[in-house]
Amino acid sequence: MKILVIAEQKNGVLDTSAFEALGAAGALGAEVMTAILAADAAPLAEELAKHGGGKVLAISNPALGVFNLQIQCAVLSELIEKHQPNAVIAAGRMSGKSLLAALAAVTGGGMATDAIDLRVDNGKLVAVRPQYGGKVISEIAATDPTKPFFITLRVKAFNPAAAGAGEVITETVSDSCFESAMKVVESVKESGQAVKLEDADQIVSFGRGIQGPENIPMVQELADSLGAALGASRAVVDAGWIEYKHQVGQTGRTVSPKLYVTVGISGAIQHLVGMQSSKVIVSINKDKDAPIFGVATYGIVGDAFEIVPALTERFRQGG
Ligand SMILES: Cc1cc2nc3c(=O)[nH]c(=O)nc-3n(C[C@H](O)[C@H](O)[C@H](O)COP(=O)(O)OP(=O)(O)OC[C@H]3O[C@@H](n4cnc5c(N)ncnc54)[C@H](O)[C@@H]3O)c2cc1C
Repeated sequence: MKILVIAEQKNGVLDTSAFEALGAAGALGAEVMTAILAADAAPLAEELAKHGGGKVLAISNPALGVFNLQIQCAVLSELIEKHQPNAVIAAGRMSGKSLLAALAAVTGGGMATDAIDLRVDNGKLVAVRPQYGGKVISEIAATDPTKPFFITLRVKAFNPAAAGAGEVITETVSDSCFESAMKVVESVKESGQAVKLEDADQIVSFGRGIQGPENIPMVQELADSLGAALGASRAVVDAGWIEYKHQVGQTGRTVSPKLYVTVGISGAIQHLVGMQSSKVIVSINKDKDAPIFGVATYGIVGDAFEIVPALTERFRQGG
């Protein structure tokens, strides 16, 4: 089986999720190829080759300096046509999801999104993904073996690839691939916390139980003491206490950190679907019957206004 991993980069820096995708592909024992598209792909391709990238196909062009769906789709369609992979996988970022959906449409291949596991069953690649808020785990295989199967992976659900020597191949594609009806006019850097929620190893999220935005600094201090990013329930985002980019859940971000702490969050199903694959969940809620305790690894029943400052103090002292 031949798997093509699409590695993402931004401003010439590889997205760490690329190494998770390589880990997922490598664990299947498949022949791994990686595509890296950038203004100058050579140094990134070298790095990927050293980290399980297998045959790394490097395509450099100034038009690849910023993400343009039309151009990326055209370039990758040519590569797929040339190398005929059985499957194409990418991290489930917005860019990866839109790119693979476009490629599936162009090639007629099947697609599965948000995979949390991959396995090979009787020679067929199977993507495992949660559905209906995690109540059902679906196993999805492509029906047409003559077309590539496109799969996006949940970020942080797979271990990064171990080091391994690969080979860099400089590829060229038709000039027409770089023509686009779209032009990126400006990119504006998102303000606020440096680490994206999806990339954070630790997240502290709060909900309506903290009673008002004036108490966010209390939660922020706990997050800072752990080096964690700040998340939130939709109730507090809708109430205007914090920006949408912090929202975790069905209509917010899906996260899988090593540690997820909830403060005054009830645990509605729409919140749980966005965080229940976290490795360790610690929940603080004054209601012992709150649904969040159904998924929590450790539950603390009590008043957030007593527990949060006490925990912060303890973590500041080093544990
Ligand atoms: C289509 C749809 C999509 C949705 N998408 C999302 C989503 O993406 N993310 C999301 O989070 N929600 C989402 N929701 C909303 C969701 O159903 C809940 O309404 C929301 O998650 C509740 O937020 P909360 O837990 O902050 O508030 P509440 O449900 O009001 O819970 C507050 C909790 O704080 C506890 N508490 C109160 N005081 C204290 C204290 N002093 N100390 C400790 N604990 C205390 C209470 O016991 C309670 O459990 C969605 C809903 C719909 C219909």
